[in-house]
Amino acid sequence: MADIQQLEKRLYRSIGTAIADYKMIQDGDSILVAVSGGKDSWVLLEVLHNLQKRAPVDFSLVAVNIDQGYAGFRQDKIEDFLAKKDIKNEMQYVDIASILNEKLDEGVVPCSLCARLRRGALSSAAKKLNCNKIALGHHLDDMIETLLLNQFFSGKIASMAPVLQPEDGSAKVIRPLVYVKEDDIITFAKEKGYPIVCCQCPLACGENTHGDHKRRKLKMMLKDLEKEIPEIKNSLISSLTNVNPSHLMDRNLWNFETCSRL
Ligand code: SF4
Repeated sequence: MADIQQLEKRLYRSIGTAIADYKMIQDGDSILVAVSGGKDSWVLLEVLHNLQKRAPVDFSLVAVNIDQGYAGFRQDKIEDFLAKKDIKNEMQYVDIASILNEKLDEGVVPCSLCARLRRGALSSAAKKLNCNKIALGHHLDDMIETLLLNQFFSGKIASMAPVLQPEDGSAKVIRPLVYVKEDDIITFAKEKGYPIVCCQCPLACGENTHGDHKRRKLKMMLKDLEKEIPEIKNSLISSLTNVNPSHLMDRNLWNFETCSRL
């Protein structure tokens, strides 16, 4: 019990710190919380919902779920849970499954197009609901995995921004869980008994899940490394807040006249 109380305190502290560090929430904000039915989004929603009651700023929340068109998806479970908690919500249907089927050749991993379509659907929902921000449940492990995936497979140093203003001026994306470790989310979600609802995409929920194969491999690698270097995740997330461009090789950051960084 004491452990769970400590975990809860840690979660609220980490999320509160991230919100303050990156000025994620301001007075008058109307925030769409993307609720997939997975553990991350439930934790995000619960914490924001409780912070709303005691925050010094006034903001509103609406939980949005998108049924992506896979047979057997239990959107009703999500809707029921939100109704019981008395949380304003909007259930949507966007047939992403059919679009992926039509657009992609067999064997192509559809995840990046799927993510773009889902983001587009959330952005349209934000517009419809007059929300100026979209809160997503990406956590600390997502941040460092993305950093390493970009280095390993895309030849760049980049992760995900805690706050992102899309160029088209649509709703700003915020990621309040950036300081929260996935293990803490798993323990907290179990304790709270959220209804975990799978999207029913065969790549994500089938017996042979292989949607994001590289990410899962990296996750296992980090787990192994953590046994030898217990602070590895903290160090990696810190590295994202402690960038020294003059010790990198990006010529766009370099002034050749003065041999210094721009
Ligand atoms: S596993 Fe399925 S639902 Fe998840 S991103 Fe990939 S295609 Fe989309």
